[in-house]
Amino acid sequence: MADNELHHVHTLLLQLQDVLREKFELEEEIEVLPAALKEKEARLEAANAKYVELNDAYTKARQDATSNSIKYDDAVKARTDAEKLVEKITLQREYEAVTKQIDEARVVENALLKARNASNKLVDELDGQLKAQEEVCDVLKAEVEEEKSKIDGILKEKNEKIVDLDARCIQIKAEGISDDIYAKFCRIVKNKNGLGITPIIQGQVCSGCHMILPMQFVNDVRLGTSATEYCPYCSRILYYQEDEEQIDLSDFESSEAGEDFFADAISDDDFDNV
Ligand SMILES: [Zn+2]
Repeated sequence: MADNELHHVHTLLLQLQDVLREKFELEEEIEVLPAALKEKEARLEAANAKYVELNDAYTKARQDATSNSIKYDDAVKARTDAEKLVEKITLQREYEAVTKQIDEARVVENALLKARNASNKLVDELDGQLKAQEEVCDVLKAEVEEEKSKIDGILKEKNEKIVDLDARCIQIKAEGISDDIYAKFCRIVKNKNGLGITPIIQGQVCSGCHMILPMQFVNDVRLGTSATEYCPYCSRILYYQEDEEQIDLSDFESSEAGEDFFADAISDDDFDNV
């Protein structure tokens, strides 16, 4: 392939890379956008569940309070009836029996009074808790609504930008990138942290993954045998820069930087197929 033609494709790919990076960044931002909303929705759901639970307890407490109140009223009536009876009694034996009845009625009455007061107190407590919980739910509901409308606005804005960037990609492609290279390149940029085309540095090193390349491969890239030569280690498209300063590779390999480069190359999931 002619030098200027090759240069043209590489220039286009570099331009495309910039646009793709921006697009993929936007897509990532869109993906994490609902995280805050989901967290708020989960809190609202938990608050609503607690409200339902409190409401059930409140309903039951009110039923208990009503029932205890009726029982207490009945007990009071039983005792006062017995007391009225005393006034009419003339026989000592009957008097003792009724007095005993009154004493027993008082014990029951007192117990029921305590029960009634306790259940009324519980009703008041639960009523307070229920009102407080209702406020919590209202606040959270408002927060969820606010977050939703905020996200909708941001999403709209980002999606519009993506449409523009897609159009720009198609424009660049039309200037001289084949369907095949375009599709592969988009995948590489996406999977390789936004770097899909990168120069060979130090005469024989891929600047994407820092692996030392086979000399024959470097020659192919240098001669421009094909428009696109993919790094055998990280699959990025490589190009050769004639003005790149050449250094002795044996120096490079023995240096600390060299070791770092290898560590990086291995830890990076560069062997994945793209
Ligand atoms: Zn590489």
